[in-house]
Amino acid sequence: MRAFDDLYAANAKFAKEFENSTLTGRAARGLAVVTCMDSRIDPLGLLGLQPGDAKILRNAGARVTDDVLRTLVLAVYLLGVDRVLVMPHTDCGMSKVTDSDVHALTSEQGVDTRSLEFHTVPDQDVALRHDLMRIRSTPFLPKDLPVTGAIYDVHTGLLTPAPRQASDAA
Ligand SMILES: [Zn+2]
Repeated sequence: MRAFDDLYAANAKFAKEFENSTLTGRAARGLAVVTCMDSRIDPLGLLGLQPGDAKILRNAGARVTDDVLRTLVLAVYLLGVDRVLVMPHTDCGMSKVTDSDVHALTSEQGVDTRSLEFHTVPDQDVALRHDLMRIRSTPFLPKDLPVTGAIYDVHTGLLTPAPRQASDAA
């Protein structure tokens, strides 16, 4: 387990000063954030949140996949979520490659990934609109659930709301 020794050492220190044990699994601020796995993003910090405040759903590209929808349904009906922010970011690796590129790159290393869909992002605005629509149009979430999108700038730390569409719900 050598590869993880640093983590257990850090956790021992963390646990000594841990004070969040009274929190429940409900989102205290009623928020779910769908964002990218990019290691530059600190979702809690950039939104002024603390542990316990929000459900954070992360994957490559901040895409609204079937698994994200499944998780949002649980978050809304069981865990106190009453608003959803979809938050892709600038300089995202997923907007720099296509699925074909990824298949080619892995193929060079002897791995055939063609049965995987990577949900790469040729156009970030189009992808975000599509993902917001997926949440707004699913029959499994409340019709009046506030859902919005914003792009996080990894260089300035600023969040820019996505342009609203005529078809956007409240
Ligand atoms: Zn990203």
